[in-house]
Amino acid sequence: MTAPTDNLRINGERLWDSLMEMAKIGPGIAGGNNRQTLTDSDAEGRSLFQTWCEAAGMTLGVDKMGTMFATRPGTDPNALPVYVGSHLDTQPTGGKYDGVLGVLSALEVVRSMNDLGIRTKHPIVVTNWTNEEGARFAPAMLASGVFAGALTLDYAYERRDPEGKTFGDELKRIGWVGDEEVGARKMHAYFEYHIEQGPILEAEAKQIGVVTHCQGLWWLEVTLTGREAHTGSTPMNLRVNAGLAMARILEMVQTVAMESQPGAVGGVGQMFFTPNSRNVLPGKVVFSIDIRSPDQAKLDGMRARIETEAAEIAATLGVGCSIEAVGHFDPVTFDPVLVSRVRDAAERLGYSHMNIISGAGHDACWAAKVAPATMIMCPCVGGLSHNEAEEISPEWAAAGADVLFHAVLETAEIAG
Ligand SMILES: [Zn+2]
Repeated sequence: MTAPTDNLRINGERLWDSLMEMAKIGPGIAGGNNRQTLTDSDAEGRSLFQTWCEAAGMTLGVDKMGTMFATRPGTDPNALPVYVGSHLDTQPTGGKYDGVLGVLSALEVVRSMNDLGIRTKHPIVVTNWTNEEGARFAPAMLASGVFAGALTLDYAYERRDPEGKTFGDELKRIGWVGDEEVGARKMHAYFEYHIEQGPILEAEAKQIGVVTHCQGLWWLEVTLTGREAHTGSTPMNLRVNAGLAMARILEMVQTVAMESQPGAVGGVGQMFFTPNSRNVLPGKVVFSIDIRSPDQAKLDGMRARIETEAAEIAATLGVGCSIEAVGHFDPVTFDPVLVSRVRDAAERLGYSHMNIISGAGHDACWAAKVAPATMIMCPCVGGLSHNEAEEISPEWAAAGADVLFHAVLETAEIAG
């Protein structure tokens, strides 16, 4: 298997034009996009993508989750395809690049292969996963989750949006219920190119993030029970202060995260005080803890330590404490062979690069359950994402797509 030569590049201008063309569909209110899954805008975006894929000589398959698979045949009829993709759906106030960059760069890889007359042994399948964002129908990464066997089709179809409409009905309404069984396809490998959605690459002035892991996470919901009492007339030694317990636990979560470096994060993003009145000590505090690490043992160790120490902190104050796990993802270690192929490609093309861990979830994290998988990242301005002001430069977009091109060609094996 030989590596592609360093003069092989995608067409950065065409990639950028396609990004801008897609961004016209489902415009936001501040320069970004509102192309939420299974809306009329999503349907329009899908049609445009289908037109482009067919014009590039690919054949479209659609599964029962509405995920789109556009195939460019390989020379070996028995070779499993190399999948390359991401998602075209956006947040309600989303950017033009989150997900879209990955899908349209995959398309650009095929267009460039056509231009250069390159055939590969393995087929290439450009993929648009349905409902990655989970903004309209929770949870996120719904279609890839069903594909990987982590969620069932029935569960997915029953998800409801805030208006009470179900995923299944809306998928039917926009006309994208395919006939393929979800997860029936077998992958030789899966690649996903995505904006970083964080500030590291830009701060380090690197063009390419070589993604080695995806953070695992636990969401813990803590309920503290104190005693409601007047903040003025209750002496300090007679208080059962659930709010104070929460503050000390929050500080402890910070310490646990700091002592679990490298790669770990932890924090509290949501809290509810009852009765939430200025002059009443809270009788009840419910809050969420979000902890993440790329290392399974470390992640579980953080959880165990937080549960033990939270109980101790509460007990010292006479406060009741119960903790429930309400969300979890295992950390993902991406395929080492594909990861080094991405790193080698960046090196060969002369792009600066560094290893990076994905802090957010992606379809690649589910794909990694069923196939060798990895991701490539490019910087985004200010680390801003899930925001209409999300921005990248055409040069950043093209550099990552060049790396994707090389890594895909090497994996799909250039024929003849
Ligand atoms: Zn995304």
